[in-house]
Amino acid sequence: MKTFRCSCGNRTFFENTHCVSCGAPLGFDPARLDLRPLKRLSGGLLEAPDGHLYRPCRNTTEYGVCNWLVDAGSDQAYCDSCDLTRTIPALDHDNNLALWGLLEEAKRRLVYTLLVLGLPVVSRRVDPDGGLGFDFLEDRGRNPAVMEEHVLTGHAHGVITLNVKEADHLARETERHRLGETYRTPLGHLRHESGHYYFERMVYGTSRLAEFRALFGNEQADYGAALERHYAAPPKPTGYAYISAYAMAHPLEDWAECWAHYLHMMDTLETAAAFHLLDGAPSLGDFDHAVTQWLNLGIALNALNRSLGMLDPYPFVLTRPVVEKLRFLHQLVHPS
Ligand SMILES: [Zn+2]
Ligand SMILES: [Zn+2]
Ligand SMILES: [Zn+2]
Repeated sequence: MKTFRCSCGNRTFFENTHCVSCGAPLGFDPARLDLRPLKRLSGGLLEAPDGHLYRPCRNTTEYGVCNWLVDAGSDQAYCDSCDLTRTIPALDHDNNLALWGLLEEAKRRLVYTLLVLGLPVVSRRVDPDGGLGFDFLEDRGRNPAVMEEHVLTGHAHGVITLNVKEADHLARETERHRLGETYRTPLGHLRHESGHYYFERMVYGTSRLAEFRALFGNEQADYGAALERHYAAPPKPTGYAYISAYAMAHPLEDWAECWAHYLHMMDTLETAAAFHLLDGAPSLGDFDHAVTQWLNLGIALNALNRSLGMLDPYPFVLTRPVVEKLRFLHQLVHPS
């Protein structure tokens, strides 16, 4: 993620709603990929320094959980990220408003990287069959008033479902320990599930499927049985050819774990470049150079955290087979 500038010169960040130096309202324009300083006009309109007019996303004015903009001329009520959300939890229950806000924040970061990579991001409102949608749901374990007994995180036919409790730090860490995982975050979930969506659009039924199978295995292996086996067995260490233990469950999970990792890499390298932390120029288009920069950055990230007495933020090892899987992804996203 790059950083931005307010008209007063202050550096601003993707999540900001106001400039902390001059107090100007800020909003993100997904078409320009820019966090813009704004002036309030009458009628709820907002004006950027170049005179462009916007409205705030409806989730900004009603709930304060968004900082993205809608073009003043558009008939959309919600911004391009909130427009992807189909279902939200009951906001009068517990701290659901705060948890939903965290999920939307993670989703905006996902969408930003998808847009930077030039991937199509179309809501199901626009394309009911091929679009992307998100359901943020509770189950009875959290709210006895809802219908759903269990809500499992997953993707089906373009709809990504995430259990709201994944935004609750304590609940999520408890689950991470129970499953013996090294990394579990809302952003990681969303990036992983988006991988299943883009697999169906970029690999399945295309000429790249044979190459996919040579690297990841046959995606037609029984998916339900494979996941059942994975969760019935005690946690096991990550195999040499995999990015995570979960990637070993099924070829499609291996793909989605690698996809998430690729998005982690691209966003974090962009962030590092914005802070001049990379050895040499940022090179998101040159895969081998990006991997070298990434390995050095990962080591530094872990060492920095250890200096603060914190856990390693990058608990992964990029082996040769994993790098080749990531290269396949990179070539799909950046066709030459
Ligand atoms: Zn400012
Ligand atoms: Zn929004
Ligand atoms: Zn998955």
